Amino acid sequence: MRVKKRKGAEAILAAHKDLVLTEPANWLESFGNQNSIHIEVGCGKGDFVLGMAARHPEINYVAIDLQSTVISYALDKLLASNLSNVRLLLADGRSLAEYFLPHQVELLYLNFSDPWPKSRHEKRRLTYKDFLQLYEAILIENGEIHFKTDNRSLFEYSLVSMSQYGMIFKQIWLDLHKDLEFAEQNVLTEYERKWADKGPIYRMEAQFVQKNESDL
Ligand code: SAM
Repeated sequence: MRVKKRKGAEAILAAHKDLVLTEPANWLESFGNQNSIHIEVGCGKGDFVLGMAARHPEINYVAIDLQSTVISYALDKLLASNLSNVRLLLADGRSLAEYFLPHQVELLYLNFSDPWPKSRHEKRRLTYKDFLQLYEAILIENGEIHFKTDNRSLFEYSLVSMSQYGMIFKQIWLDLHKDLEFAEQNVLTEYERKWADKGPIYRMEAQFVQKNESDL
């Protein structure tokens, strides 16, 4: 989803090169520790990652989006926080392999990804098989994708795409906000806040499964 361009967004990002990366980075150097790395692809204005980072100071978070405007809004929030475990990455999810080493990422989040409903745009969906291949390469062995959305069609598409890819589902929610136990750990995204009272929120935890030599 394109947002209205913010005047001067690029300059704001350029003034904070320690927090906003636009080129391949040495994450160990950037964070100054060897903690696990969790990433969100399509982070929007960053509420989810900032909320998770506040709850889990022992984890390093990288929030990724291809729009400089939304990353600049996430930066405003990051600067207003005292979090040291968040970095913002202005990049297209298609080029993740340039920014992360193989098996460097422990967990990958997708929240309210753009649905791209037209079938001719299938390749742009962040759960299209080519993206899954990229995610598998940077995630640890048997790594997981945690995905939530209000869009039933995208959710169904993603279940099929991941299943065809050979992933397994550890948990699936068809109405996340009815799960009061999960509510305690559920960090809301901007879109989740906007759409939650208009219908169910779907969520899944899907895992890559190591392929045996004989399957290849
Ligand atoms: N995750 C946020 C939330 O739940 O509020 C934002 C959701 S918004 C609908 C989708 C975001 O994904 C947009 O900010 C868009 O720029 C970003 N996006 C779409 N395709 C992307 C891609 N290939 N790489 C990185 N970000 C992408």
